[in-house]
Amino acid sequence: MPVALKDLILSKDPRQALRMSRHLAALVAILLFTTASIYFSYNNMLKEADIQLMDINLTFWAGLLIITFIIRSGINQNLHDPSMTMVQMIWCSIYMLTILYMLNDWRSIALMSYFAILSFGYFRLDFKEFLIVTMFCVAGYFLVIIYIYINEPLRIHLDKELMQLFGFAMTCLVMVYTGSAVNKLRVGFRERNDQLAEALRLNTRLATTDDLTGLYSRRYLMDMLSNQKALSERDDSDFVILFADLDHFKHINDSFGHYIGDVVLKNFADIIRASIREIDYGSRFGGEEFVVLLVKTDIEQSKNIAERIRSGLEHYNFSDVAPGLHVTVSIGMANYKQYKSVQETLMTADNRMYKAKEQGRNKIVSE
Ligand code: GH3
Ligand code: MG
Ligand code: MG
Repeated sequence: MPVALKDLILSKDPRQALRMSRHLAALVAILLFTTASIYFSYNNMLKEADIQLMDINLTFWAGLLIITFIIRSGINQNLHDPSMTMVQMIWCSIYMLTILYMLNDWRSIALMSYFAILSFGYFRLDFKEFLIVTMFCVAGYFLVIIYIYINEPLRIHLDKELMQLFGFAMTCLVMVYTGSAVNKLRVGFRERNDQLAEALRLNTRLATTDDLTGLYSRRYLMDMLSNQKALSERDDSDFVILFADLDHFKHINDSFGHYIGDVVLKNFADIIRASIREIDYGSRFGGEEFVVLLVKTDIEQSKNIAERIRSGLEHYNFSDVAPGLHVTVSIGMANYKQYKSVQETLMTADNRMYKAKEQGRNKIVSE
């Protein structure tokens, strides 16, 4: 079926499309039942009734088309069960019981169609719902034969009908049991699917972000660097790598404790985030080393950003967590265009960071 036509008939929303296609399948099955009822009528298998078979069929189909409208228009999404399985099954059962009542004999033929109705509940109903629909049908069948027996005893062999009802009820019971087992499987599959999707989300987050600082991970930054390399070869743009290493961090840990060390790392990450643009990438490369990727820019403009990061940390006030603590950072920077290799650009930035250390720390070295 062409996609446009399929969307038009079923809906673009895949969940709604599934509900609609199940409903259409039910309509086809019921159409067969309606055809059978007309066959019964032509062969004088139905009782002479005040109401005509035609009226019954029309009333029933009007109800079905209202359900079609509710599902296709999306009104069903406000309902407790948007698939309207129970409603459809009950409505079809009423139809079946009506034809059953009108049949003079061969009522078991109509009864068989109930199993077709029940099979639509296989993937949706839980044990309780299944039982309700089945009880409705069994009780309905019982009332129909009792009603016929009281009012038109000539139309019925009560003992034969009761035996049939018993067989019907027992078979239904088995179907209710297997049906609810299938439904349990379905629910289990869905739950496991949700858990897997959640695990995948968590995994992706762990692989791309650093837990402590919320900055990107080293691995993710390396991926972004290869991306930038490809981009810059295509549009001849440049990018800059900043390599930042906190000064005397071991001493900070030793004097203030590891916890304060972690607080410093987090605050430094905040400073980085506040200093760069949306399109740039700040990452924790390892321990107290951070690498920042500044895209579509050159060394001159990047110096301002590096300076913002350096002085941001230098003037950061840690007095509320660790009085007397002052932290500085040494930064080396290099641009891609000069080296034409990610590895070499990264190494150069790293070497320049060490130069900044040699020059007394709290410095930026860009050449
Ligand atoms: P320099 O100025 O030369 O860089 O001196 P430094 O002390 O910073 O250098 P070094 O690389 O010797 O020490 C880094 C320290 O960072 C050692 C390690 O204990 C600490 N560190 C690494 N990762 C973490 C972390 O996640 N939390 C804390 N609190 N400390 C960390
Ligand atoms: Mg270090
Ligand atoms: Mg250090």
